[in-house]
Amino acid sequence: MAMKRRIVRGLIVVALIAAWFNGASYLEAKRISVPMPSASQPPAPMSAAERAALLEDVRILSSPEYEGRRTGTPGNRKAQALIEQRFAALGLQPFGGSFRQPFTFKHRSIKGLVTPGRPYETAYNDATNIVGYVRGTAAPDRYLVISAHYDHLGIRNGKLYPGADDNASGVAAMLALAARFKANPPQHSIIFAAFDAEELGLEGANAFVARLPVPKEQVAMNLNFDMIAHNNDNQIFVAGTHHYPFLKPLVEQSAAATSVHVTAGHDRPQLLAGSVEDWTSSSDHGAFHKAGIPFLYFGVADHEDYHAPSDTFARINPAFFASVTQMLTGLAMSLDRNLDTIAQVAAAR
Ligand SMILES: [Zn+2]
Repeated sequence: MAMKRRIVRGLIVVALIAAWFNGASYLEAKRISVPMPSASQPPAPMSAAERAALLEDVRILSSPEYEGRRTGTPGNRKAQALIEQRFAALGLQPFGGSFRQPFTFKHRSIKGLVTPGRPYETAYNDATNIVGYVRGTAAPDRYLVISAHYDHLGIRNGKLYPGADDNASGVAAMLALAARFKANPPQHSIIFAAFDAEELGLEGANAFVARLPVPKEQVAMNLNFDMIAHNNDNQIFVAGTHHYPFLKPLVEQSAAATSVHVTAGHDRPQLLAGSVEDWTSSSDHGAFHKAGIPFLYFGVADHEDYHAPSDTFARINPAFFASVTQMLTGLAMSLDRNLDTIAQVAAAR
């Protein structure tokens, strides 16, 4: 009898947890389906030259010569050289004489335990972040870090994974913002960081945060781009406002100035969000968040070309990508103007 009662009680608990999970999933999916109010009139587009450069960067980085940019491969080193060259041409400043910030790490693969011929542990001895900055005119000792990873999956089983959306798009947008800020200097200093080895576990961002080129208390926040060019519904997500709600008004203002549908979400834990994915640690911003540095992350919903050989330049949405980049430019300018307040609010938490 007692046994039976325990079983019944157990079943009720399981049913309640399932009901909670389903309810949370339903409510969260509904909550994040509502975009912020957007502009009825699209803003002035980027100049034809800016737009052409933006697309050209994605085309080049995702072309076969770059071999999918896997960490430790010649294609990845080619991407390093290109970004370094672009930083120098734009007139960004390096920390300590070089844009290159090398690091090492060991990658452990669960698949290596069960796949013959595949190693469990691989040492990466020459991974490299490419990092430069534009000095602020009013308060140069406060920094905004704008980041995007340049590595991708490489060539697997003879198939090229070009990674046009993931994440040549983020790198191209970061370069566009660097050009804009070099021409119109910000009040605070802005670090532009092209991270390596994101696909192997945010290794580049972890290495950067572990050995910041400036004192940690001077780093006000991180703005991270990863997959921002491919969406057929004109929609992009921003994650981070759940953790840092004081950033939301600035995001809303930027959303109001674009025709792109910007939706806040994918940043609440499973207890609140059920089956709706939490992207808090899904890309390089996770390393900043872990260190207590506020972040905003922009990225599209997963699509059929995600981590597939079909993530090609031909599959991105050029008009959408240009609008997103324009919106991110406006947001970065507004973050710069408000960076003192952001740092103060974050420090007081
Ligand atoms: Zn990515």
